[in-house]
Amino acid sequence: MVTNLSEPAISIAHLNHYYGQGSLRKQVLFDINLRIDRGEIIIMTGPSGSGKTTLLTLMGSLRSIQEGNLTILEQDLLHATKEQMTLARRNIGYIFQAHNLLSFLTAYQNIEMALEIQEVTATAADTRIRSVLSAVGLEHRMDYYPSDLSGGQKQRVAIARALVSQPKIILADEPTAALDKKSGRDVVEIMEKLARDQGCTILLVTHDNRILDLADRIIYMEDGYLVHHSDANAIVQ
Ligand code: ADP
Ligand code: MG
Repeated sequence: MVTNLSEPAISIAHLNHYYGQGSLRKQVLFDINLRIDRGEIIIMTGPSGSGKTTLLTLMGSLRSIQEGNLTILEQDLLHATKEQMTLARRNIGYIFQAHNLLSFLTAYQNIEMALEIQEVTATAADTRIRSVLSAVGLEHRMDYYPSDLSGGQKQRVAIARALVSQPKIILADEPTAALDKKSGRDVVEIMEKLARDQGCTILLVTHDNRILDLADRIIYMEDGYLVHHSDANAIVQ
C-alpha cells in the first residue's frame, strides 16, 4: 500500500453511534467531526459517560461504524469486513486503564506476545523488546511477573507492549487512572517521548489535568458531542 503522509492519521465525519435495540436504542455519539494529523498528540477529556471510550473503540476498529465516516490511515471503516477491521488494528497500539498484562507471563514475555503476529526474526524481536524495556526504564525487571511489579511499572510494561510493534497510532484510554500523580505523569512522558521518536500519532483519554500540557491539542466531549477543540497552550496557560 502506498502511504500518503499528508493524509490525516484519523478522519471522522458526521459520526453517530447508538447502543441497544428497539425502544432501548439510545444515541451516544452525535455528529462527531474530527481530523487528527500524523504525529499529533491529542488529549480527549470530558465527564464520565460522555462517549469518550465509545469514540476510542470506533477509532480503534474494535467496534463497527454504524453511521457516518471514519477513516484511519486511509482505510474507510464504514462497512469494513472483519478481515479489514483486523488489518486496521495491526497499525494501532492500545493502552487501557487496567494494564491487561497476562499474569502468567513475565514483563518480557508480555511484550513479546505483541510481536507474534509481526514478521520479525527472533533476534530482531529480542533487540526490540530489550530496547523498549530500557526506554520505559524496566530492563532490570524483564523477568518479573506482573504481581511483582508496582502499578506504575505494570503500566510502563503495557506501554512497551503497545509500542514494540511500532504502531502508527496509539489509543490510550485513561492509562493513568490507577496510578498516583507522579507515576501517572512519568508514564505519559515516556509514552510521549517514545511516540515522538517513532513519529506515532497518540490519542489519549484522561481526566488528569496535570498532563494536559503534553498534548498538541485538547478535545472535549460532553453528552456525546465534541464540544470544542483547543490548542493545548490555550488551556494550560
Ligand atoms: P466515557 O468513556 O466518556 O465514560 P462511554 O463511551 O463509556 O463514555 O459511554 C457513553 C454512553 O454510552 C454512556 O451513557 C454509557 O452508559 C453508554 N454505554 C457505554 N457502553 C455501552 C454498552 N456496551 N451498551 C450500552 N450502553 C453503553
Ligand atoms: Mg471511558
